[in-house]
Amino acid sequence: MQLSRKCSGCGESFRKTELVQYFTPSGKTSNWYCPKCLAEKQARERFSNKVCQLFGIKAPGPVIWTQRKRLQQEYGYTDDAIIDCLDYIYNVKKMKKLSETLGLVNPKNMEETRKWKEKKKAEAASIAAAVAHTPMKEYIVPIRENNSKQKEISLDEGLFDD
Ligand SMILES: [Zn+2]
Repeated sequence: MQLSRKCSGCGESFRKTELVQYFTPSGKTSNWYCPKCLAEKQARERFSNKVCQLFGIKAPGPVIWTQRKRLQQEYGYTDDAIIDCLDYIYNVKKMKKLSETLGLVNPKNMEETRKWKEKKKAEAASIAAAVAHTPMKEYIVPIRENNSKQKEISLDEGLFDD
């Protein structure tokens, strides 16, 4: 009986129980991955989906993968940070999509993205604070009382009519 199996990612041998079977999106074929490679594979798929959505493409080209690696290594940017930055550049700043690459993801735009996210967070917090300070009970209670009184009255009237 075969006790070990090779990871399809790194090619190292692992005990079968350590590997996870991972199906392709079509569900027709599957590969076995070690936890580390599986995490990277899932991260790549998430990243790929978001990049495709943003640029309206079917699959990211090799340039994007090279740039992603460089951004990770050089600046320590996470996938989420890169996606947020792209979102900011193209959906908030509405810059023209001249090329389907990560070319505009750089420290300057990353810093702008950070500030934009902070501003959004502050806005959300101030809305939440405003809602929290609204005296909800004072509004809700009288309405409920009115409703129940109206019901009682109409019920009584109904009884009297009989
Ligand atoms: Zn592996």
